Amino acid sequence: MAPQTSTSFTGTLFIFSAPSGAGKTSLVKALLDCTSHIGVSVSHTTRAPRPGEENGKDYNFVSVDEFRQLIGDNAFLEHAQVFDNYYGTSQHWVENELSAGRDVILEIDWQGAAQVRHLMPDAVSVFILPPSIEELEQRLSGRGQDSAETIARRMQDAQSEMSHYGEFDYLIVNDEFDNALQELRAVVVARRHRLAAQQVRHQSMLQALLAARD
Ligand code: 5GP
Repeated sequence: MAPQTSTSFTGTLFIFSAPSGAGKTSLVKALLDCTSHIGVSVSHTTRAPRPGEENGKDYNFVSVDEFRQLIGDNAFLEHAQVFDNYYGTSQHWVENELSAGRDVILEIDWQGAAQVRHLMPDAVSVFILPPSIEELEQRLSGRGQDSAETIARRMQDAQSEMSHYGEFDYLIVNDEFDNALQELRAVVVARRHRLAAQQVRHQSMLQALLAARD
């Protein structure tokens, strides 16, 4: 796909990335509860659903063969292998939402973020970090049910993801949840008020304000 310019879509594309344990999913859920005209893309994945996850809501769960078919059909805006599984973002859904003027959040890893940045340079990317290595370890330890080896692997994966924080436009540290939420919302709200977006949104109001009066 050729790179898109800001004039192609009226909605804004946000990319949120974080290591597992940074609290990204809870932050996004809370952000959606307090922000209108914004939605989250539901990715396709080959990983098995976790307890409580719903097909079509948390992810579209597909087989490796189905995933390959979707790649062949050019169905993905971006796709990547993240650790042991494949993940991809539906291009059609994202473009539809943006064209309708709605903002879209992608919760994707650093590889997907790099692909989207290349295709859509106007996308706004945010990286969310945990406040410390100790806190991260505690969050990744689960309820003490996992082996030391599993936890060490999660820590390694998290550090590998975090090493890419410098590629993002904004950095948010999720120490206090409410503060991090406010900061994330500030990024979204500020981006919406950029001149180009406001000119599209308030076209007729701007014309009326500046119309010559008799
Ligand atoms: P999890 O399996 O724990 O839900 O997600 C594992 C990682 O895959 C996370 O870093 C998450 O952001 C990333 N991920 C989820 N969906 C996508 C996607 O559509 N594309 C890419 N590139 N990464 C994704």
